[in-house]
Amino acid sequence: MCRHAAWLGPSRPLSSLIGDPEHGLLRQAYAPRLQRYGTVNADGFGMGWYDPARAEPVRYRRSVPIWADANLAGLAEVARSGCLLAAVRSATAGMPIEESATAPFADGRWLLSHNGRVEREAVAGSGVFDDTEPESPCDSAWLASAVFTRLRAGMPVAEAVARVVTEAARADPAARLNLLVCGGTEIVATAWGDTLFTHVHEGVLLASEPLDGRPGWRAVDDRTLVLASPDGVSVTRI
Ligand code: GLN
Repeated sequence: MCRHAAWLGPSRPLSSLIGDPEHGLLRQAYAPRLQRYGTVNADGFGMGWYDPARAEPVRYRRSVPIWADANLAGLAEVARSGCLLAAVRSATAGMPIEESATAPFADGRWLLSHNGRVEREAVAGSGVFDDTEPESPCDSAWLASAVFTRLRAGMPVAEAVARVVTEAARADPAARLNLLVCGGTEIVATAWGDTLFTHVHEGVLLASEPLDGRPGWRAVDDRTLVLASPDGVSVTRI
């Protein structure tokens, strides 16, 4: 994914990440302002949210540009949750363009998006991807599976994400590893090679780049991990 965003706080519709703000993901798909790699994000999009009617989050993924889905606006206005994730994709060269390669990847209560790239061949054999079952050959699906494997083994989410990032970066020093992981009551995000911003007001917004012109957006330092929970936001060095 080349641009992603998440919300933790009082219940809001997904349109609050996509079409409502001036520079929401709908606009960032064709006119991102801070994107370092790629120019448009037209290779698909996805969103995930939590509904009391289901134990697991709901996902909606498409492999078409976000602006080409005429049904999205209505859906995004009524899909509400206190924990939201959405992403628009610019596929890395060689990666398939299909739903299964599109974030959010999901496992149990977890949703994951990846902005960046990793050389799978460089990391294969390093142990990072051992025992993983990626749903797609896409590098992001491999990283998601590596995080999910650690979560299933009972590792706390911040530790699982930090470990996968550091282990993947050790095996592929050129990797870019901005991950965004939602669990319904907490969000973990990393800045590793690309931009990440936070905005705290009534809740926490995390986004690759600011969604609007309000004051309060803060750039997150590279090589850090952000943990957002009902207790607040913490930023730690990875
Ligand atoms: N490597 C991922 C993909 O191909 C993410 C790409 C990106 O962040 N632009 O989907």
